[in-house]
Amino acid sequence: MSDKVYPVSREWAERAYINADKYREMYERSVSDPEGFWSDAGKRLDWIKPYTRAKNTTFGPGKVDIRWFEDGTLNVSVNCIDRHLATRGDQTAIIWEGDNPNESETITYRQLSERVQRFANVLKKHGVKKGDRVTIYLPMIPEATYAMLACTRIGAVHSIVFGGFSPDSLQNRIEDAESTVIITADEGLRGGKPVPLKKNADAALAKCAGDKKVLVVRRTGNPVSWTPGRDLWLHEELATVSAECPPEEMSAEDPLFILYTSGSTGKPKGVVHTTGGYLLFVAMTHQYIFDYHDGDVYWCTADVGWVTGHSYIVYGPLANGATSLMFEGIPTYPTASRFWDVIDKWKVSIFYTAPTAIRSLMGAGDDLVKRTSRASLRLLGSVGEPINPEAWEWYYHVVGEGRCPIVDTWWQTETGGIMISPLPGATDLKPGSGTKPFFGVRPALVDDKGQILEGEAQGNLVILDSWPGQSRTIYKDHDRFEKTYFSAYPGMYFSGDGCRRDADGYYWITGRVDDVINVSGHRMGTAEVESALVSHPKVAEAAVVGYPHDLKGQGIYCYITLIIGEYGDDGLKKDLVAHVRREIGPIASPDLIQFSPGLPKTRSGKIMRRILRKIAEDDFGNLGDTSTLADPAVVDELISNRQNRR
Ligand code: ATP
Ligand code: MG
Repeated sequence: MSDKVYPVSREWAERAYINADKYREMYERSVSDPEGFWSDAGKRLDWIKPYTRAKNTTFGPGKVDIRWFEDGTLNVSVNCIDRHLATRGDQTAIIWEGDNPNESETITYRQLSERVQRFANVLKKHGVKKGDRVTIYLPMIPEATYAMLACTRIGAVHSIVFGGFSPDSLQNRIEDAESTVIITADEGLRGGKPVPLKKNADAALAKCAGDKKVLVVRRTGNPVSWTPGRDLWLHEELATVSAECPPEEMSAEDPLFILYTSGSTGKPKGVVHTTGGYLLFVAMTHQYIFDYHDGDVYWCTADVGWVTGHSYIVYGPLANGATSLMFEGIPTYPTASRFWDVIDKWKVSIFYTAPTAIRSLMGAGDDLVKRTSRASLRLLGSVGEPINPEAWEWYYHVVGEGRCPIVDTWWQTETGGIMISPLPGATDLKPGSGTKPFFGVRPALVDDKGQILEGEAQGNLVILDSWPGQSRTIYKDHDRFEKTYFSAYPGMYFSGDGCRRDADGYYWITGRVDDVINVSGHRMGTAEVESALVSHPKVAEAAVVGYPHDLKGQGIYCYITLIIGEYGDDGLKKDLVAHVRREIGPIASPDLIQFSPGLPKTRSGKIMRRILRKIAEDDFGNLGDTSTLADPAVVDELISNRQNRR
């Protein structure tokens, strides 16, 4: 834990929507009078039929039932497009930056309106009706946004499958969602290399039962195989329909989308989000946490295949009439300066990315950052994992040159939007801490028996009451929803994450509870040990898991990726052990160190510790679902090295 504090600057306290006093006052009202707070907040959306009541929710014990604004009706595409046309029809809604630095496009709100309505008419023409599920398997191209908003126009429920997923993962998700229409592209393009999306979709569909239609976007123009009658070119279809499609009137509680979680903890779950509360929550968090003002250029580097892309590339920003940048490529192509080059090219003022990207670019060296200007930047964000203080400081001082606050945003697919985060004009920053809850969010820490812990404490992170952006159920499996999130501590939403609260009431996520290890009776988050390891100058990345240990109960097993070279020697191992003892204390001494040129990661860049635990336990036959791994070969290498005790 870092003990540094970066206070809010006077300039930020003055210019931001929310300063410290306002935060206290609004937060207090949001939890003491949620009905009043959210009834007022809901007015930021355009409703067809206004709601008469905001909140109707119970976390049990007994049936979990979550409804917000339930008698109101609205349409998401109207809120993200139509209502902006009068004042900002010619403003850029989407800046699209291609994988190739010479390819880009800007799309105004007026253009977005026409393209989305046409797309919606194509879906209608092929039988898609309100409530039907549409699977989207696209690269990061504007058509992904059009497809999402086209679904919302006609009340269809989208299920986006990240373009990096395999045919099997795609097939499972198409079948679970029972989609009859699949939207894909001939190929994607990442880091100069084609991604065979249509080919993957063909392989997935070969194993799916029932009649399907496949709408294909032409992205690279390379030849693809074609099933006449089933496959349709999107551009040909668009030419056959009108540019006007009236919006469907949706209940606030009608489903908006299904999103399957990445699976770092087991079989993917179809997380369901609904219409009114979700849109309100992502719009409000986007405005206040990123302090979005007219004229800002906002860039979230996530893929629309993840919840971060749904909430903070598309729905939050567009509901606020923002200019949102969408990037097709990867951070290291053509060079590891790409992020910073794109920031200069489009004068990006708000930049939101993940610790995994920050750490890898930090490893590439400061020169690649410093050769760019980044003068337009005023705010930085982080999401996806705990950010180790080392990476935080680098992001703050090197990328942001000490002038940009960092919002470290903790949230989950299931929470819909950001739950714990600094507000840049209100919250003093501590590197590595998500700091304080957003309006209406009531976090608490409980011990393993479910006792609420007060004051300075470490425990399991729960949320005590509902917020509008919360997921309502798991698709077709409400039982699993209740079991997964509400059974560990009845009456509370359990996040699955461990967390510490300091004397200032700041929250520090320590990683998943499964990743907490108990060494000789001392509980510690693996993130803490990992953070100590990556602060060693030779270490690029570290993953720590527990394994059965005769004396200690659990031992500390460390997988280490070095900055230079693949395998270190015994001298370096000793050095690393000494380093951790110095940083945390003897209790955290690593027991086993394995040098690993690669670590198993999900497609979104998160380390799959579930698999590393199995390897550490010598339980190789039982690795569980590995279909969402970015590079399955890494696992074989880890196992063979484990067996060789290299
Ligand atoms: P699955 O639930 O399928 O295993 P996942 O949890 O990785 O996948 P997400 O919903 O994308 O899928 O990630 C949410 C998790 O990411 C959180 O529960 C937390 O562990 C971690 N996380 C996200 N943001 C932060 C953050 N700012 N600080 C610490 N941890 C974070
Ligand atoms: Mg999760």
